[in-house]
Amino acid sequence: MYSIKEIYKTIQGEGAQSGRTAVFVRFTGCNLWSGKEKHRESSICNFCDTDFVGTDGINGGKYSCKSLVSKIKDIWQSKERGYIVFTGGEPMLQLDEELILLCKENNFETAIETNGTIKIDFDIDWICVSPKAGSDLVVKNGNELKVVFPQSEFNLDMMKKLSFEHYFLQPMDSKEIDQNTKNAISYCLKDPVWKLSIQQHKLLGID
Ligand code: SF4
Repeated sequence: MYSIKEIYKTIQGEGAQSGRTAVFVRFTGCNLWSGKEKHRESSICNFCDTDFVGTDGINGGKYSCKSLVSKIKDIWQSKERGYIVFTGGEPMLQLDEELILLCKENNFETAIETNGTIKIDFDIDWICVSPKAGSDLVVKNGNELKVVFPQSEFNLDMMKKLSFEHYFLQPMDSKEIDQNTKNAISYCLKDPVWKLSIQQHKLLGID
């Protein structure tokens, strides 16, 4: 059974697939933070803006592979080929080949947003890695590298040598968001390998 925080249809707001309609499947749990505020400061990842604890979100619950794909189909509700974004938390704690294959059999394109600390050894159509300083990055290739900026420990010149199609800097959403955005813009102007990723869904008030 998969433990799912929430499932909902929305517009992808970040990165290279921005603007695309997708069903987001948010898995419960992460390996870099418990999700509890009391553990935030002592965690490897301490800037998370997502609630991935429990199964109490919209359409959240425990699902078998079949029941999860059936729920995703109900939510997609279109004859057009579907697009699923598996996210979290850290989706690779639970996502497996059985689920990906069943999604593909049901005419869905699959994508993952991962922190890149767990090897992916099956075929997902779109891999977006958002590395976190202080963790061991093992997924070093994919479609999109999305670095939340700034993370002072990161050497961006080294990161752009990893094997991705797109390299994004995404301003960290914190009290310093305005300054982080200015700094990310300056960095992209200086080194145009990096593109700016703005969390458009937050600006538009979309979930
Ligand atoms: S790795 Fe991602 S999901 Fe996990 S705590 Fe960090 S930002 Fe949140």
